[in-house]
Amino acid sequence: MIVEMRKGATPEQVDGVVQRARSLELSVQLNLGTDKTVVALLGSNTGQLSTDIFAVLPGVESVTRIMKPYKLASREFKARNSVVSINGIEIGGKRIVVMAGPCAVESEEQLVKAVRAVKRSGACVVRGGAFKPRTSPFSFQGLEQAGLELLGQAREQFGIPVVTEVVNPQDVSQVSRYADILQVGSRNMQNFALLTEIGKSKHPVLLKRGFSCTVTEWLTAADYLLAEGNNSVILCERGIRTFEDSARFSLDVCSIPVVKKFSHLPVIVDPSHAAGHYSLVPAIAKAAVAAGADGLLIEVHPNPKEALVDGLQSLTPSDFARLMKELEPIAQSVGRYI
Ligand code: PEP
Ligand code: MN
Repeated sequence: MIVEMRKGATPEQVDGVVQRARSLELSVQLNLGTDKTVVALLGSNTGQLSTDIFAVLPGVESVTRIMKPYKLASREFKARNSVVSINGIEIGGKRIVVMAGPCAVESEEQLVKAVRAVKRSGACVVRGGAFKPRTSPFSFQGLEQAGLELLGQAREQFGIPVVTEVVNPQDVSQVSRYADILQVGSRNMQNFALLTEIGKSKHPVLLKRGFSCTVTEWLTAADYLLAEGNNSVILCERGIRTFEDSARFSLDVCSIPVVKKFSHLPVIVDPSHAAGHYSLVPAIAKAAVAAGADGLLIEVHPNPKEALVDGLQSLTPSDFARLMKELEPIAQSVGRYI
């Protein structure tokens, strides 16, 4: 249930709503907007409560039931777009934020070459996996702690924020020391213990869409993060599994405007995992920007032929530089810049 306070409602009136909700054993999330406060009331029995219980309280403008399974990620709860700020870089603002780097951190030399190249071409966040969630237990699992340390060094050396994946709830605080943004991978979108732990940490988080999950399930997973008070949530569309098998996954380009319609959260797109092949990445990246994505997450490797993971879908530094140039007019045409 969403209680919208009147413009100019006093803090005491807001508190009156909060106290009434607590007396009914509901939990409460406040969205203190610039001109209006919205109170979300959460609990398993809100369906049985009359909206009048809150509508009669002083300072209340309206009370609405949210019929969708997700609440805090919804536009009803927060009408204005959320902007997540990472060291002054705004995700969800006018700039298309490009995060780029190798799938996995493999060595100091590989990472340094990749960071230097992507930064020079205009990426403002570097990606690189230290913990890799692999389909097979026999595949390279990442350098783990050593990989995190290399990412930490690159962050210092190049002054660029880092996004890297965390796969285990127990690793959240360790990974947070090196990462400016924690990535939740597609296979972990519904790992609720992991989401809750990241929610509690309040660390900025990139929540990838599960490749067999609906947009509704994705936004409901985001509620796990938001419910713990973590408001720095960025969504990432990375393709879903359909009957079509000519690319690695099918990029659901529709999900971008759908998320924008139903949620206030920023959404970026990973064209690399959708494509599975470097030759398809530029077209998918351009489609994403044209459709309203707030940023991109792109795999770039200094030497894709030697990559330990995802070499086929990784761009070379020169392909990436070309793509960044080609994205400029597309960003402009939708009122953004890159
Ligand atoms: C990745 O970003 O390298 C990755 C494993 O992505 P996904 O979880 O989308 O498969
Ligand atoms: Mn990858």
